[in-house]
Amino acid sequence: MIRITLAVVTALSLASVARAQQPAATPAPPPPLIDWSKIEIKTTDLGNNTYMLAGQGGNITVAVGTDGIIMVDGQYAPLTEKIKTAIKAISPLPIKYLVNTHYHGDHTGGNENFAKDGVVIVAHDNIRVRLAAGTTLGANVTPPRPDALPKQTYLGGSFALEVGGRKAQLTHIANAHTDGDTWVYFADANVLCTGDTVNNLKRYQTIDFANGGDVRGMIRAADTYLKVANDETKVVVGHGPLASKKDIVEFREMLITSRDRIQKLYDEGKTEAEVLALNPLADLNEKWAPGNAALAAAHTRNVYNSFGRL
Ligand SMILES: [Zn+2]
Repeated sequence: MIRITLAVVTALSLASVARAQQPAATPAPPPPLIDWSKIEIKTTDLGNNTYMLAGQGGNITVAVGTDGIIMVDGQYAPLTEKIKTAIKAISPLPIKYLVNTHYHGDHTGGNENFAKDGVVIVAHDNIRVRLAAGTTLGANVTPPRPDALPKQTYLGGSFALEVGGRKAQLTHIANAHTDGDTWVYFADANVLCTGDTVNNLKRYQTIDFANGGDVRGMIRAADTYLKVANDETKVVVGHGPLASKKDIVEFREMLITSRDRIQKLYDEGKTEAEVLALNPLADLNEKWAPGNAALAAAHTRNVYNSFGRL
């Protein structure tokens, strides 16, 4: 296990050297200078003791069992107290597990605070590696304290977490939004948590290709969700309001068109600059990046660079 981990770290180091020659991932707009005191945590009851919490950053899912709570994603550290207050209003029971859907700070920023309360952070092992290395979208920062790292990790496939009769099925999707994505399904509540492999903002989604993201994996993720979901499934996406199966269908069609058109140009040997100049997604941009040329270009770059992923 140690050897495997070292191999991964070595591979990542080599990858970052190679990447120095590459364009950086095109991030979502960075978090604005946020007045945390103005952020409110909004709770939506999804039925069967399951809730969605929205504040600033990735949506949170809370599942309450008979003796404890499973939560999925934890937003930013300055919001932890507000999030805990919102959860206490749902149930006085302790949070046992916090699942990270991927490493980005708007989903993992609360890790250290929750870990100090004894919450076990659970994630795909690549999240531990990336957080330990201080990886962020676009730049490296000081690695977080050890408490912020996931304590329980897995490498592939699916496994179940259980707390007081509530079962969360965690499954890894390789190389989608990042290289460490986990989606979570609560079958008893028919609630599917996609993290940032899907958004419901009706706008393009960042694909962190410099850290293993790939439009083809995003499509694989959407394909999987359409098999799992039915018309009643409540879909907690990474960003945006509660979604349904039809929102995933729409999002997937956008990804497929993006992939097909840009892969064709990539295979013809076009450079990134040439593809941007051709603007192959002009009609899609009107719907998915209206009035936002920067977002439109970022999406084209993210899809293009999926095909050159290391
Ligand atoms: Zn993300």
